[in-house]
Amino acid sequence: MSLLQISEPGGRPVRRTARKRAAGIDLGTTNSLIATDVDGEVLTLADADGAHLLPSAVHYRADGATVVGAAAKAQAVADPANVIVSVKRALGKSLDELTDSGDYRQYRFDPECDPASPAFITSMGVRNPAEVSADILRTLVLRAEARTGEAVEGAVITVPAYFNDAQRQQTRLAASLAGINVLRLLNEPTAAAVAYGLDTEEQGNIIVFDLGGGTFDVSLLSLQKGVFEVLATGGDTALGGDDFDRAVAAWLAEQCGLGGMESIAARDYPALLQAANRAREALSEAEQAELSWNGASFTLTAAEFAELAAPLVRRTMLACRRVLRDARMETSAIDNVLLVGGATRMPLIRRAVADYFGREPLQDIDPDRVVAIGAGIQAEVLVGNKPAGDFLLLDVNPLSLGIETMGELVEKIIHRNTSIPVSKSQEFTTFKDGQTAMALHVVQGERELVSECRSLARFSLGGIPPMVAGAAKVKVTFQVDADGLLSVSAEEASTGCKAEVQVKPSYGLDLDQVEQMLKDSHEHARADMAARALREARLEATRLTEAIVAAFDVDGELLEAAERAVIDRALHALRQAMAEENAALIEERTEQLNHASESFAERRMNMTVGAALRGESIDAIDERTE
Ligand code: ADP
Ligand code: MG
Repeated sequence: MSLLQISEPGGRPVRRTARKRAAGIDLGTTNSLIATDVDGEVLTLADADGAHLLPSAVHYRADGATVVGAAAKAQAVADPANVIVSVKRALGKSLDELTDSGDYRQYRFDPECDPASPAFITSMGVRNPAEVSADILRTLVLRAEARTGEAVEGAVITVPAYFNDAQRQQTRLAASLAGINVLRLLNEPTAAAVAYGLDTEEQGNIIVFDLGGGTFDVSLLSLQKGVFEVLATGGDTALGGDDFDRAVAAWLAEQCGLGGMESIAARDYPALLQAANRAREALSEAEQAELSWNGASFTLTAAEFAELAAPLVRRTMLACRRVLRDARMETSAIDNVLLVGGATRMPLIRRAVADYFGREPLQDIDPDRVVAIGAGIQAEVLVGNKPAGDFLLLDVNPLSLGIETMGELVEKIIHRNTSIPVSKSQEFTTFKDGQTAMALHVVQGERELVSECRSLARFSLGGIPPMVAGAAKVKVTFQVDADGLLSVSAEEASTGCKAEVQVKPSYGLDLDQVEQMLKDSHEHARADMAARALREARLEATRLTEAIVAAFDVDGELLEAAERAVIDRALHALRQAMAEENAALIEERTEQLNHASESFAERRMNMTVGAALRGESIDAIDERTE
């Protein structure tokens, strides 16, 4: 199976195009990199000083110069308000989210700005997160152009797997501000797998464990002869090396008698974090590290650090467990674990990962560079420099998508963690006789009841020819494309009348919300199933009682008094059951009423058919028999 049609049926020749300069960009919270083809191999590029990692820091200087990278980061302590760091975390966030998080306490935000799209006040004027990101992207592209002597014609830019639509749009906006043609946004763990998938012969199930500065992604991929598929993803958009730094900074503040982190002056905060970061990175190589603050020195041992870090490490392990559970897989089914992101250099992370999965993680490719390299390889394929070969790149749908059915129930059409792109159809029908329109409500979530899911869109299908309830055939198709965009269409079979809607399922949803929805669905699974059964039973009972009452009105004279009494008794018993919370009882009495009214229904059916035949015009019969 291949998603890419290489040649058309009939075997017409495919024109060969000249090579295009393509690049892969890892736009990181802490560090960013660019990779491109160098003599037939995709490699990350270094700056003039030999550094591959570009610190994701931008200094807007009072003299009007924009400085990006290590030189900017070095000024973070001296000029905290004008050196923007960790801007990736601000992409797609509201002003409240930024001020509440505490990550951006050293900055001032423009009071005039739309709270939905906040902007930093710098000595060079107001800059929003997309503009700051654009300065980083531009620096990387200039690096590639200087090194290769060619213009970069297209780039693949990576984003965390759980970036929502707003965050992805902001990333695209940043690229367009930097004048970059975006070939595709690619999830970071997927990019890492691309790098490994093509560089090695590995097969089997692979966990990509990516702990960077600000985000944590864990993905489960299945790799078979160069074909790989993302089976499940999870993680935390607010967990990374920065959090380990904050834990050490809090410890340092306590040692200095500064009190809690809240009481530290905003201008001291970056320096405190830098001291913590240096000590933490030193602990990757040594058993203890020295920290000094205001002239006083402190020693942090690896054991003490392990204690401070334990809650964070535990969070990464819980995310791994969830991903495996989603895929219904045991750790024993995992063949390889890839470490990605600078923070996986911490020995305690490596140990925890090795312990949990029962094997040593792979680290053949530099964990700092692997994402950019994978993005670079994908970019080469997308511009046509490299053949796509047989490999497919599949992502997954993070939450189930479905439709509201009668009784405010959810019918899931595309289940959570289904590989995308995907298209699935299901047939629905009308509930009432003569119903000519159908209201469609598209929802997202794992719960059984509509009220517990997220509403994505509503639309309606009109023009259904009047028929008896249950006779119309409406095919509802859900299609999710490679970018996660959902299209829903509904089509009535006999007339072909159609309605459709497009939605972005991830819009405005961040990882915490996704996680909360999953947690709720697990906690409520049993109760939800019971509630669903009850609603379905009541719905069927309502349909039947209404139909019988309507039939009494029209054809009541077909029944003898004794026959009528039997049906009335069954009707009464069912109505009593409907008032109770017992699905099984309702079902049983529905069945009894069905049975009691069987011969009445038969008699009516014969009458109706007879009437219809008698009422039919000769013309219509002729037409039908022609
Ligand atoms: P991002 O993808 O978020 O930009 P990176 O993959 O570049 O992040 O990882 C940055 C994180 O890696 C930082 O928190 C940094 O402190 C951490 N890091 C880098 N080298 C080491 C090391 N030797 N020991 C511990 N942490 C490290
Ligand atoms: Mg990263």
